[in-house]
Amino acid sequence: MILLFDLDGTVLTFDGNAPGPGRTSMGRASVALFGVDHTAGIRFAGGTDHGIARAVLERAGLPFEPANVDRFLDAYVEELARVLENRAYRPVGDVASAVSACAARGACVGLATGNLRRGAQLKLASAGLEGVFDLDRGGYGCDHELRAEVVRAGIRRCGGGADVIVIGDTRQDVEAARAVSARCVGVAVNQASRDELAAAGADAIVDACDDTLVEAIFTLR
Ligand SMILES: [Mg+2]
Repeated sequence: MILLFDLDGTVLTFDGNAPGPGRTSMGRASVALFGVDHTAGIRFAGGTDHGIARAVLERAGLPFEPANVDRFLDAYVEELARVLENRAYRPVGDVASAVSACAARGACVGLATGNLRRGAQLKLASAGLEGVFDLDRGGYGCDHELRAEVVRAGIRRCGGGADVIVIGDTRQDVEAARAVSARCVGVAVNQASRDELAAAGADAIVDACDDTLVEAIFTLR
């Protein structure tokens, strides 16, 4: 069994007013490179960093090609490291215990996140979750701009297999799971997220990455 965790809104989140560290950093990168915050109005939740880069580059009138994508996302990662010095993420529940409980029951635990691998690493460290996930077992926003492909990359890096559960907080996580014939357990930190996951047809929905999540995963079987 392969378990692929989304990060933002699922494993970690931020306190205080939006925008959080991720969106703040994307906006600053856009201002630094283009003089304008081209991220305004873009939905980040459920997206991928390459997908966000495509939207920003389009607004900046630049082609979606590797040199432009890298330039923007390199600037973003630099900003993210800076922003996280003053504002931290926090785990959504007792993530470390939930992950080790899943691993102890024989699951291969990995990631399927729209973050770049480097961004994922920075966010996990900020939330105090460094070492909880093996980053080599992950699909990332630098693998592909489509979330289903990110999930496929995660499955591949977990050694492949047919029994896959995606754990996420948005309809995009549910849809990506469906696209690869996987199931999806939703983690809803608020009612809006719960409603979205229910409408998308998540197989189960819990409030946090804690023992209720472990229970939901292993009763799906
Ligand atoms: Mg998410």
